[in-house]
Amino acid sequence: MDEDLLRKEDVYDIIIIGGGPAGLTAGIYTARARLSTVLIEKLGIGGQASITDKIENYPGFVGGVSGPELVHTMEEQAKSFGMRIAFGEVTRIEFSDESNIKKVFVNDEPEPYRCLSIIIAAGNEQRKLGIPGEEEYAGKGVSYCATCDGAFFRDVAIAVVGGGDVALEEALFLTRFAKKIHVIHRRDRLRAAKILQERAFGNNKIEFILDSVVDEIFGQTMVEGVKVRNLKTGEKKALELNGVFVFIGWSPGLSFLGALVKRSKDGYIIVDKEMGTSREGVFACGDCCKKNLRQIVTACGDGATAAFSAQHYVERLKGEEYV
Ligand code: NAP
Repeated sequence: MDEDLLRKEDVYDIIIIGGGPAGLTAGIYTARARLSTVLIEKLGIGGQASITDKIENYPGFVGGVSGPELVHTMEEQAKSFGMRIAFGEVTRIEFSDESNIKKVFVNDEPEPYRCLSIIIAAGNEQRKLGIPGEEEYAGKGVSYCATCDGAFFRDVAIAVVGGGDVALEEALFLTRFAKKIHVIHRRDRLRAAKILQERAFGNNKIEFILDSVVDEIFGQTMVEGVKVRNLKTGEKKALELNGVFVFIGWSPGLSFLGALVKRSKDGYIIVDKEMGTSREGVFACGDCCKKNLRQIVTACGDGATAAFSAQHYVERLKGEEYV
């Protein structure tokens, strides 16, 4: 379907904010329920999964599946049922209690998209270290995406900062290019899944620097090294290397929401078990929700539930609910 034909004056049944696995799954479900559905995405379809080389724990794929391939298939599947995609950054939502129409503003444009129900699937934003040199050398040796930038670091030493699943998965991926990878983690043990730890400890290109933080990234015009400090001993050292990959987790980037729905202290959307938020007609799913397990499979599950709840909400508004 031609995206240019999306008309802002129309009232869509459902607007989904965010095109990762949660949003795409929600789109598959609402489009199959024959609700007019527009998914709004600010960057590229697929979210974090689209920059993940291989996903091993999404059911149905022995030996794993490529992240880009998986999310591309989800996108095609949703579009095949009629879900439409608009690109742009959601900057504001207006919600009037008198009318059931919700307004979703994109790129600060005066004319909003209109809908009966909103599903927020906005994911998270990558955390930054916030240390000297990080911003200065972004794109000049500092990277947040191994699949995008790994090949620029052939036969050189690099650092990976973080101790979670992403840090280890990406460190393992980067062994294809770099000659040495220092994984720098602030604790004496890792947060990552044990299977990833086994692989990383068994890889002779990877060296762990534990109990340690990076205080500074330095160089002339490109990254030339990092200053590392051991948190237990206070010992400081400089490592000469050419790249720093930062994988220290994610935090919600939901500034467009304002106080529209209740959120946890750390900013995640609080949902009930039907993925309803504190606002009637607004549902949320995936990594932007307060929850313990953030995986593609749980994002998809959330997306299906949010879509089902939104479907019933919209059908109730239209007097079409099947009870
Ligand atoms: P994560 O699990 O939150 O891990 C972040 C890591 O960065 C932690 O080790 C944390 O240390 C460290 N960290 C956080 N802030 C830091 C700072 N300011 N300075 C230095 N280190 C810092 O994040 P993730 O690895 O990006 O994974 C995100 C989610 O995606 C997780 O739920 C993960 O399970 C999921 N995921 C799953 C898979 C999979 O199953 N295949 C693959 C990728 C991601 P502490 O441990 O000390 O907090």
